[in-house]
Amino acid sequence: MKLLIPGPVTTHRSVRAALTHDIAPWDPDFRAVYHGLRVRLLRLAGGQDGVHAALPLPGCGHFVTEAAIRSLIPSGGRLLVPLTGAYADRMIRLAREAGRDAVPLPIAADQPTDPAAVRRALLADPGLSHVGLVYSETGSGVVHDPAAIGAEARALGRQMIVDAVSAFGALPLDLAAQPEISAVVFTANKCLEGVPGSAFAIVRTDRLLTVGRAGSWSFDLADVAARLAGGDGARFTPAPQVLAALVVALDRLDAEGGPPARLARYRANMRALYNGMCGLGLTPLLPPAVQGPIVLNIDAPADPAWDLQAFVAAVKRRGFVISNFYNTPRPSFRLGCIGALRPADMRRAVTAIGAALDEIGIRQRKAA
Ligand SMILES: *Cc1c(COP(=O)(O)O)cnc(C)c1O
Repeated sequence: MKLLIPGPVTTHRSVRAALTHDIAPWDPDFRAVYHGLRVRLLRLAGGQDGVHAALPLPGCGHFVTEAAIRSLIPSGGRLLVPLTGAYADRMIRLAREAGRDAVPLPIAADQPTDPAAVRRALLADPGLSHVGLVYSETGSGVVHDPAAIGAEARALGRQMIVDAVSAFGALPLDLAAQPEISAVVFTANKCLEGVPGSAFAIVRTDRLLTVGRAGSWSFDLADVAARLAGGDGARFTPAPQVLAALVVALDRLDAEGGPPARLARYRANMRALYNGMCGLGLTPLLPPAVQGPIVLNIDAPADPAWDLQAFVAAVKRRGFVISNFYNTPRPSFRLGCIGALRPADMRRAVTAIGAALDEIGIRQRKAA
């Protein structure tokens, strides 16, 4: 069975094989693994020793996004969030429930965020201390430009928090060149092709609030950083098997040629799926020029027989799991282009999807 979803992704069997050992987190052997992993992730992000720190946090992506917001934005600070889609909405909710002020910036849902619009919003409101950007918006499939948007924030003395959960490991990032980025957050189970269970923030340690100001001990990244700087290992129980599997996944990323090679494979996967869906008479949400390489949303066919769960079940009988929900304003279904899959797998998926449409009787395939 292949997961054709934008995370958790299909993993290589060597990654899954790393899950089969019991591990004591405080064992010196595991401490070395933990430390080595943090160093590799820092390098991958272009982080600088002594400036940035890679901080693991057990759990999912939402947890570490919340932790970054709580640990870097003082109460009274204000976060400007371009409304890129479902994950920007989630960032706003996380900020508000943490008692931080989040200010939405309406943008066209099917276009990359215009850096000039961010500049205008920041100029109009000097109280906006931070920009919160979703790098690859998994809701829409559009990739936004943290370098160009960050340059506007930097020029105006503002800071940035980047949700790179569905970007890190494939799309470019260079923290050394972007001092305005206070934190970038991501997880093990998307473009890094590990298994779910651990999230990470790479932060500028000088921007962390003092320990105790996050309003949550569990999500206080300053406390995580202080413990690690003191030479201690993980603060609470980490997910050691997940981290051991991530080491294997990072070895595979290196062997593939690093993020540029991975991005090229994901682009090829996306094109195979995009062309295949058009060939089946379906309508992608985005035109090719703005379609990103991570997730492809397809408008629900207009046929009255359309039933997302029945379709998902019919595709699954043919060896591929796709999401049984959608994150777009109009009904759609979504296909992940990421994970340990190649264009040949995507062509097989297209055949499976065509057969599934026939099985459930979808003749009118264009969007409603
Ligand atoms: C997957 C994802 C997240 C986090 O999702 P979790 O289910 O909490 O791991 C956050 N942002 C984006 C853009 C994502 O794709």
